[in-house]
Amino acid sequence: MRVSWKARSCVLLLAAGCATNPVTGRRQLSLVPESQEIQMGQQAAVQVSREIGLVPDSSLQRYVQGLGGTLAAASERPALPWTFRVVDDPTPNAFALPGGYIFLTRGMLALMNSEAELATVLGHEIGHVTAKHQVTMMSRAQLAQIGLGLGSVLVPELQNFGGLASGGLQLLFLRYSRDAERQADALGFKYAVGQRYEPREMARVFQSLQRVGETERSRSGRSPLPGYLASHPGEPERIAAVERRAAEVPAGTATRVERAAYLQRLSGMVYGENPRQGYFQQGVFLHPDLRFSVVFPAQWRTQNLPQAVTGSSARQDAIVQLTLAEQAASAEAAARRFFSQQGVQAGQGGRTTVNGLPATVVYFQARTQQGVIAGIAQWVEHGGRVYQLLAFAPGQLFRQYEGLFRQTLGSFSPVSDPAVLNIRPNRIRVVRLPQAMTLADFHRRYPSTIPVEELAIINQVAGPATTIPAGTMLKQVVRE
Ligand SMILES: [Zn+2]
Repeated sequence: MRVSWKARSCVLLLAAGCATNPVTGRRQLSLVPESQEIQMGQQAAVQVSREIGLVPDSSLQRYVQGLGGTLAAASERPALPWTFRVVDDPTPNAFALPGGYIFLTRGMLALMNSEAELATVLGHEIGHVTAKHQVTMMSRAQLAQIGLGLGSVLVPELQNFGGLASGGLQLLFLRYSRDAERQADALGFKYAVGQRYEPREMARVFQSLQRVGETERSRSGRSPLPGYLASHPGEPERIAAVERRAAEVPAGTATRVERAAYLQRLSGMVYGENPRQGYFQQGVFLHPDLRFSVVFPAQWRTQNLPQAVTGSSARQDAIVQLTLAEQAASAEAAARRFFSQQGVQAGQGGRTTVNGLPATVVYFQARTQQGVIAGIAQWVEHGGRVYQLLAFAPGQLFRQYEGLFRQTLGSFSPVSDPAVLNIRPNRIRVVRLPQAMTLADFHRRYPSTIPVEELAIINQVAGPATTIPAGTMLKQVVRE
C-alpha cells in the first residue's frame, strides 16, 4: 500500500511534534518519544553495567537506589523507570542516561561525607533527565545509530581504532552546555531541599571535586574529571550559586545531613584501584586471581577494563587487546571461531607453546570499517581458561610493529610470585575519634595506606594541622 506524500509528512510531523518540557513548562521540539528515550537509556545502561561493572555490594546498591528513587519520585517525571547504580570505578564521577538510568562511581561515594551531599549529586543527575538534556542535544543521526544497536560492524573485536567509545557508551561522553549544568544544579538543589536535606552540603561536593582536580592537575598536568566534574560553569561559580539559593530556603526547613549514617555505609568499600581485578606495574599487566602477566610495550597507553585489557601505541595506530575467549574448550577451538567471522583471513601459523602453555598463534588480515588491518592473533590455555590476544595495526604499518607484537604476545606467562598473588585492595574503615586531634595525629594513630594530603581531601579537612573534634567520624584507608 502506498501512502501519499502529503499524508506521510503529516505523520512525520506528529511523531516529531512539539512536546512540553516537564521542567520549564515551555514547549519545545521533541524528536524523541519517551518510549524511545527509555529504550535507548536502558540499552546503554546494560552496556555500562557490563563494561564498567557494578560494585558487588547489594546493600550499598539498595541504599543508593532508595535515596535516588525517593528524590526522583518527587520530580517532574516520577513515572520513569528510575534506576540508580554504583559502578566499580575509582574515579569520582556521576552520569545520567536518558530515561532515568543514573550511575555514580565508588570513587564519587568515597569522596563524599554525608547523605545530603549524595542527595545533591543524585539530584543533579536526575535534573539532566527531567530537563531532557541528553535527548535535546543528541542529533537524530546519533539517535538512529544508538537505537539500532550500532549499525553493522564487520568484526566487533577489531573496532578499536578511533577510541573505545562505542554505542551506549557514547552517551557518557556527551558534554552538556553551561546552561544545562546550571539548570541541573538548580534542579538538584530543589530535589534535595524537597526531602529536607541541608542544601549547603552541595557546595562541599564542589569543593572536594575542585581539590581532586587541583591535585590531579599538579601531578599529571591535566584534569582527569569528565562528566559530573566537567565543571563547565567552574566550581567557584557553582558554590556561589548554592550559597545564593540556600539563603532563600526558610531557616530550619532543610537540615538533614546524615553524616554518620552515610559514612557507615562506606565502611569496607574498596578504595582506589582494585588490584584483584588486575593491575599495571611499570607496563607489566599482572592478574592475581587469574595468575598471569603480560608485558606491554614501553610508553604505550594501557587500560584495564572489565572485559578487556588494551594497550595502544602513542600514535594510536597499533593495538594489543587481551580478552577471555568465553566458552572456548581449547586454543584451537577459539581460533576456529575467530576465523569463522566474515572478513577475517588467516595467514601462516598454528599450534605452538608460549612460556610452556599450549597456544595457537596465527597471522591475520581483516576488513573493518577503518580499512584493512593486519595483525597476529594468539590463544593461550592457562588455568582452565583460554585467553585471546590480538595485536593489530593498519595493513601498511604491520611490518613496522611486527617485532613489538611478537614480543608482547610472547610475554604472556604464569605468575607465581606471592607478592602478586596475595595483593589486597585498599578499603575504607570508619573511625570515631575518642578525643580531639589533628589530622596528622589521626594519621599516626590510625595509619592509612594513602598520603595524608589525600586523606584530608576525602575527609574534607583543610590539612594535616587541622584539629578535629572528639566524636567525629573519619575515613581511614587500610589494606587488610
Ligand atoms: Zn551535570
